[in-house]
Amino acid sequence: MAAQTHKPADPDGAAARRDRAVRAAVEQGLVGGADPAPPLTCLLDLAGIRASAAALTGAFAAALPPGTPVLHAFAVKAAPLVPVLRLLADAGLGCEVAGPGELALARAAGVEPHRTVLDSPAKTTAELREALALGIAVNADNRQELARLDALTAAAPTRSPIGVRVNPQTGAGAIGALSTATATSKFGIALRDPGARAWLVRAFLDRPWLTRLHIHSGSQGVPLPLIAQGVRELHALAEEVNTAAGRRQVDTLDIGGGLPVNFTSDAHTPAFGGYVAALRAAVPALFDGSYGLVTEFGRSLLAKHGLVLARVEYTKTTGGRAIALTHAGVQLATRTVYAPQAWPLRILPYDCAGAPKTGGPVVQDVAGPACFAGDLLATGRELPALAPGDLIAVPDTGAYFFTAHYGYNSLPRPAVHGFTATAQGGIRFAEARPAQSLAQIVAEAGGARPDALL
Ligand SMILES: *Cc1c(COP(=O)(O)O)cnc(C)c1O
Repeated sequence: MAAQTHKPADPDGAAARRDRAVRAAVEQGLVGGADPAPPLTCLLDLAGIRASAAALTGAFAAALPPGTPVLHAFAVKAAPLVPVLRLLADAGLGCEVAGPGELALARAAGVEPHRTVLDSPAKTTAELREALALGIAVNADNRQELARLDALTAAAPTRSPIGVRVNPQTGAGAIGALSTATATSKFGIALRDPGARAWLVRAFLDRPWLTRLHIHSGSQGVPLPLIAQGVRELHALAEEVNTAAGRRQVDTLDIGGGLPVNFTSDAHTPAFGGYVAALRAAVPALFDGSYGLVTEFGRSLLAKHGLVLARVEYTKTTGGRAIALTHAGVQLATRTVYAPQAWPLRILPYDCAGAPKTGGPVVQDVAGPACFAGDLLATGRELPALAPGDLIAVPDTGAYFFTAHYGYNSLPRPAVHGFTATAQGGIRFAEARPAQSLAQIVAEAGGARPDALL
């Protein structure tokens, strides 16, 4: 892996900002160690999000000839919150969506169709028709979807740029469930299968409206050189198509997202600058300006800027093990609870006033509120002894954690507040998503039709 330098999101320190935000969240009643303050809330560091967006756009702008078309489309599934999409749009980003729900969120955020990309392995005909009518970029996943697009583009003209997703079959990363480029992955058209490459080149020659190639071969656990290798193969395929076509039919390469995130410290490693450097080393021609680029980052833009704050409701000792029973569990950290080896999270202890808690380390389990034994955020973790009314903060949870709520035990979705440090040294909160009410839980559970099954 290319050497990565530690580049904090902001010079004054995201960690210091986080401590101030925790204290302010307690002082302003967003969360607290005792009722009636809420036992759980989620925070987003808005300056951090803007810094990551600027790091992404800056890293590519610095490497490309001026005027090269680039769209950084945020992968909506990482943080499907309309105000977050709007903030990122304000920072110059578009949206990558994987279905009607995410498309509706992007539209609600005011993201324009020409700044939106639709990827999904299972788009319905109606979804494709709508995307083509709106002019949204579409990446076809498979041969049958291409056949549907043949019919739809013949039936009605479209401004949508259309591409094909390929699977370079470059191999898995450290987390099997998140590896998209394996020999048998469900995604895209596999490049190394017998006859596939020739078929794909022919498919482009037969369809002048096919102008893009798409890959998303990175993810958490995938090393940079493996991601870069996939992009190199994408570029080589585009050159092959264009040579066969005798013109620059493929004009844009969508290189996906998948930059991993460091869950073990506040360091932003790998950084977008290191990612661009790895791509430049592996495929220098990608940056010569002859192709427009689309990226689709999710986790690396948001993860480091999210924080869960949860009350320790009780503590106990069982079989010699100290256990803190908190309000943060599987509903917010689903992957960590079900696959703790792959998704370890840091736990930062605070007291009931929101001050960092110190004290000699005690080996503890940090448990969530759900009714199954495996609902643990951390097992055998050394932390200052936690007590009822303390708070735990769980950093790095801005992508795929509290924004991907899991409805186990009908645990309500907590509020999400963005925070900003003010010039006066305070912290200003803005609610991005209200807490789910009990009335909403009942309504979403068929509460309006209690007799429906009688
Ligand atoms: C999930 C996904 C992304 C975003 O991946 P991250 O690891 O969050 O950067 C981008 N593109 C596609 C097609 C995806 O499925």
